[in-house]
Amino acid sequence: MERKIYLDHNATTPVHPEVLEAMLPFYQEGFGNASSIHSFGREAKVALEESREKVAKFLNADPLEIYFTSGGTESDNLAVKGVAWANKKKGNHIITSQIEHHAVLESCKFLEKEGYETTYLPVDKYGLVDHDELKKSIKRETVLVSIMHANNEVGTIQPIAELAGLAKEKGVYFHTDAVQSTGKMKIDVNELNVDMLSLSAHKFYGPKGVGALYIRRGVRLTPLAHGGHHEKSRRAGTENVPGIVGLAKALEIAHSDMQEEERRLKSLTETFFKKVTERIPDIFLNGHPVLRIPNTLNLSFKGVEGESIILNLDLKGIGVASGSACTSGSLEPSHVLSAMRVPGDLAQSSLRFSFGRSNTVDDVAYVVEVLPEIISKLRAMSPIYQK
Ligand SMILES: *Cc1c(COP(=O)(O)O)cnc(C)c1O
Repeated sequence: MERKIYLDHNATTPVHPEVLEAMLPFYQEGFGNASSIHSFGREAKVALEESREKVAKFLNADPLEIYFTSGGTESDNLAVKGVAWANKKKGNHIITSQIEHHAVLESCKFLEKEGYETTYLPVDKYGLVDHDELKKSIKRETVLVSIMHANNEVGTIQPIAELAGLAKEKGVYFHTDAVQSTGKMKIDVNELNVDMLSLSAHKFYGPKGVGALYIRRGVRLTPLAHGGHHEKSRRAGTENVPGIVGLAKALEIAHSDMQEEERRLKSLTETFFKKVTERIPDIFLNGHPVLRIPNTLNLSFKGVEGESIILNLDLKGIGVASGSACTSGSLEPSHVLSAMRVPGDLAQSSLRFSFGRSNTVDDVAYVVEVLPEIISKLRAMSPIYQK
């Protein structure tokens, strides 16, 4: 049988078997609408509220501060637009960074058409936001600062507590997109000092199409969707009970062996990096050397197109991404690598390897075996590569 190795866990992950098992009853005998008064509804409601309690516990939040959504994109939209709309009287200025996920960047772009103003903070070569730049950018009209926790393309982790502290001092709300860090590292909304935090189940072995937004008590926010009084009237629509049960179960599993898995992934990525750099010359690491989520390695292979490497690896059964999965198919260099001032040719030659639960030391050995051949073949044909 052909060997298949998935190294694209930052794009999505498979549903953990125990997560699926927890979800299934709520598609069948436990199918009730959580808003119904009868026993069918009450059963769904209990599952919904137990899931909310679990999620709250893992984030060190209150269950009343957890709002379920359709995923990371909706959570980001709700945080950014919701706060901007509800606090219009105070001001029209938002601060974010140049390396955010498109769910945040496009929400800001949308608001600009309504008369809002956005500051896109620059980052250094490792992808870190500058503390002083943020401090300088906050003004009287600022209503929100939104800076991601871990970057999906390069894995760099921002010092969120410190950045959030600056916003809090000035009475400005702080949101973080923690879609890539949740499930991979400990998340404590009080330690992080944030007012809002986005997460998405399918990035940590839960189902697709379900996520949550943590909203600290007292934050003023206008809903995106109007309808029934679900989620305390902040997110109308019949709750996706099976999905929400799956999200909570996935978070529980992530926490059950988090430190062990963190160590294991760190060792896999370190071994991989060490071995490929031993065997292949002219490789560059994009992202912070240590302040990085343990599963992510973004590497540039000088002189070859990332897309060509992906296709060749795919023929060997290996799935990796170039830059961000959201930009594949486009020839634009990644906005994250551009913001980090990675030269255009190196940005075009970048690959994102994101490891996960299924990966083993054997997988690393296999990729390390096939990659050098692919790179030397492509470099031999490359008009721009010179040794
Ligand atoms: C995947 C991702 C999102 C979007 O989440 P969806 O649930 O797929 O909508 C947002 N932000 C980051 C950092 C992501 O990696």
